[in-house]
This record gives sequence, structure tokens and C-alpha cells, in this order.
Amino acid sequence: MFLPDYIRKTIDILNSKGYKAYAVGGCVRDSLMGKDANDYDVTTNALPVEIAECFKDHTCLDFGMKHGTITVIMEEKVEITTFRIDSEYKDNRHPDSVSFTDSLFEDTCRRDFTINAIAYSPKEGYIDHHNGISDIKNKVIRTVGDAEERFSEDALRILRALRFASVLGFDIEESTEKAIRTLKHLLNNISAERIFTEFTKLLCGKNAKYVLEEFHEVFEVFIPELVPMIGFEQNNPHHIYDVYKHTCVSLGAIEAEPILRWVMFLHDTGKPHCYTEDEKGGHFYGHYKISSDIAKKVLKRLKASNSFTDEVSTLVYHHDSVIPTTEKSVRRLIFKIGYPRARLLFKINRADALAQAPGQIEQRLERISELERLAVKINGQNECFHLNKLKINGNDLLALGLPRNKIIGKILNKLLEEVVDKSLENEREALIKRALELKDIL
Ligand code: ATP
Ligand code: MG
Repeated sequence: MFLPDYIRKTIDILNSKGYKAYAVGGCVRDSLMGKDANDYDVTTNALPVEIAECFKDHTCLDFGMKHGTITVIMEEKVEITTFRIDSEYKDNRHPDSVSFTDSLFEDTCRRDFTINAIAYSPKEGYIDHHNGISDIKNKVIRTVGDAEERFSEDALRILRALRFASVLGFDIEESTEKAIRTLKHLLNNISAERIFTEFTKLLCGKNAKYVLEEFHEVFEVFIPELVPMIGFEQNNPHHIYDVYKHTCVSLGAIEAEPILRWVMFLHDTGKPHCYTEDEKGGHFYGHYKISSDIAKKVLKRLKASNSFTDEVSTLVYHHDSVIPTTEKSVRRLIFKIGYPRARLLFKINRADALAQAPGQIEQRLERISELERLAVKINGQNECFHLNKLKINGNDLLALGLPRNKIIGKILNKLLEEVVDKSLENEREALIKRALELKDIL
């Protein structure tokens, strides 16, 4: 197995003091799959104080000391964890006590899945007590030990199983799957932050579309807003899928980036709440607004950051705008949401179109490309889209004798709007003349 030099050195230092040490978990799994590891975890029989002693010439962060983890700053941060047994879980999340052990086998038994329980050291090679290597070969997620027991100890593992299925494109072994479905309600005991982190990784997996469809009942536990979407027929010539299936297909059609994946996941949550029907079929007038409110509510509940929540809900709000393919409309869009967001919106529109009725896809994609082309062109012209680029400011208006109150802001915004629309030139004289006119209108 490939190990970076600083990990070999970490293991060597521990070995030289007479301790066992192995790379373990995600890095071994990823390496066996021919992928680069995110980070390297090292496990050892040295106790936390002994680890600190071995690395006294290095910077050690010992926040995790109680749980047996010390972070050592080698070339990069390395988490070194003492072999441990987690005993008794009363609340489906945190072990009541942690005991250290001298046995690597016991440490691997506390780990979640067989594919995450393989250890490796340059001296001993792979140590695979739970047949994780064969599960990697067969692309299977299987708990270490009895699935129901393991999910009852820590229900986050339910979501981690689905996360690994999504990210790695693996199947879930039968009894593991059965336990996921039986014990899904235990996710109610898990903190919002932990759920958000795992679920976001799940959404960004290459197999997310499949996992979301197959296991929607699990996600409904923490996002009950999904329930009305499942099987909700759209009865409309633009659509061939029900609302939830369309959601999953559109999510699979956008790049694996958290904001974009969350936007696709939530963009049509409002649809079941505003369905109407006439002779032309089903309609969802105003669904963008309801969806955007639902997006805000869901992300707040899951304790996503404010900036993440704002970005997702804003993009959801705009996802259904019909923008004519003219420079003026694209200029207005850039004015309203900014150029970077406009670019994201086009990606969203494209993914949305790819999940609609096949008849009109080509035409829709062409329109989006045209909008994109116009946006790139306008952006390259370095035009004025912001008050700070307007060739007049609040002080100029005060100097003209305007009162120091709200009118100043109103006039500046109106001037900017007209400049964006190109009905007014961004030149001082023209701006002043127009400001004096506006003073009497606004
Ligand atoms: P990633 O590529 O996301 O880092 P990972 O497998 O390294 O994947 P981590 O969350 O970093 O996942 O956890 C490191 C290791 O700790 C896992 O491989 C697994 O052995 C163990 N582990 C993590 N979370 C749990 C859990 N909730 N229950 C049991 N073992 C866990
Ligand atoms: Mg990891």
C-alpha cells in the first residue's frame, strides 16, 4: 500500500518505542480501491500519554485525549488513536465509556463497516479481521458484527452506510439493508450537525440518485418535507417523472458540489403544495417560492451555516425564472443575483431540463447555452452592475442639495437600474440630470 513518508515515519517512531502501529480506516479502503486517501488515520496500542511522549519533539494537539486520539503535526496533521473498545451505548450515539485495549482485533470490532476495518503496516501488510478486502472487491457495505446491534449503538452509522453506498457506488448487504430500514427512526437521536455532514457527502456521491430513490424512507426521518413529493404525479407534458423521481434525476445531472446538489434536492419541494389542474394539465404556479422557504427551513433545522442556507434558498427561488434570451434580460439577471450566481443558475437550469420530458430537452439546452453565452459576453464588458461603479454617489446628491434621507438611496438604486438597462448612460452629467428629475418623481 502507498503510504506518504510522514505516515511511514509516524509508524516507525511508534514501532521504535516498542508499540504496534497501523494505518487504518478510510485511507486503507481508498488505497485498495486505487484512490487517493482524504487523510490518514493511525491506530496504536500506545496509550495517549505514551503517544504524546513518543512525539514530544513534535507539536501535539490533545483535544481528543479522553477518547484516545492525539493529533500530531508531522508534515501534515495525523490523528493517532489508541486501540479502543466502545462500551455500552445507551442513547444510540455516544458510548458511555471508552476503554483502551492492547488488541488491534478489538479495535477493529468497534469500527462501522468491514471496508473501514482493515489495518495496514509496512511490516505486517494488510490485517483484515472482517473480510473487508473481499467486500471491497465485491462492492458491498456490511457492518462489522450484527447490523441491528451496531446501528442501535450509533444510529449515524445508518446514514454512513448510505453515504458510502452513494460515494463508492457499492451495494448494501442484505441484513445491513434490512436493519437500516427497521431502525431508521433512531436517526431522530442524532444531532443535526452530524446528519448534515454525512447527508451532504451522500448527496455528492456518484450514486446519489439511486440511493436517494431506494432509501427515501430513511431521509424522510429528518426531512419529512419529502413525503408529499414521493409519487406525486405532475400530469404535465413537460414531465415524465413524478416530483421526487424528477428531483433525483436532476440531482444526478449536476456536478457533485454541495450547494448545487442541495439546490437540486430541494428545488421542487414546494410543488405538492401548490398543484392546480386545468384542461392543459397540472400546474405548480409559485412553487419556486414555497420551495425556497422549505429549503430555508430544512437547512436551518439541519444547522447548515447561514451563508450556505442563503445561497441554496436564493438559487432555489430563482430556479424557475424564465429569462428571455436577450442581452437586456441577462443584464437584469446579473444585476439581480450577480454573475457567479447566474452561472450557477444556468447549471441548475440545465440539470432541471435534463430531467424533463425528452421531446424538449435539446431546445431547452440550446436556450440555456445562449443565455450563458450572453452572460459571459456581458461580464467581459466590465459594465456597471453595482452602486460602487456608478459614476455618482450619495455625497454628489447631497451636494446637489438633496435632503439626507431615504430618497438618496432610492435615487441611486433607480439610476443604477436604468444604467443596467442601458436606458441611461453611466456619465456624471447624464446621471445628475436624471437624479434631479427623479427627486420629484420618487
Ligand atoms: P472519509 O473518506 O470520509 O474520511 P473515513 O472512512 O475515513 O471516510 P471517517 O469519518 O474519517 O471516515 O472515520 C474514520 C474511521 O473511523 C472509519 O473508517 C471507521 O473505521 C471509523 N468510524 C468513523 N465513524 C464511525 C462510527 N460512527 N462508528 C464506527 N466507526 C466509525
Ligand atoms: Mg477519514
